[in-house]
Amino acid sequence: VETCLFCGIASGDIPADIVAESSGTIAFRDLNPQAPTHVLVITREHHLDVTELAVAAPDLVAELVRTATLVADAQGTPAFRLVFNTRAEAGQSVFHVHAHVLGGRPLLWPPG
Ligand code: AMP
Repeated sequence: VETCLFCGIASGDIPADIVAESSGTIAFRDLNPQAPTHVLVITREHHLDVTELAVAAPDLVAELVRTATLVADAQGTPAFRLVFNTRAEAGQSVFHVHAHVLGGRPLLWPPG
């Protein structure tokens, strides 16, 4: 999608610090990290959010989780949190599906 920031990263038009790739996904560092490991995993294809992705392309949900796991291991933070903010009211600000991989510091639970 032309106006989509993460489509721009997926196509290489917008620079990002890419840490992992698979055939259907790309992982790159969040610009505004909230933990020592803070990586976003996106699908190359444009999908609005994880609920839409699960219906349209369920295999890509599994691939995205697999990439997130590889990233967490490679970052040396095998204990991690995987977050899909879904809809604006839940904090989603970029409407191209992405998982936040957060690790490397104590993570509070419940999150608040
Ligand atoms: P969310 O609020 O869940 O939609 O997450 C969007 C995330 O994208 C935020 O954590 C931002 O810091 C991050 N972000 C926004 N623009 C960029 C960018 N150009 N490169 C990397 N991360 C970004």
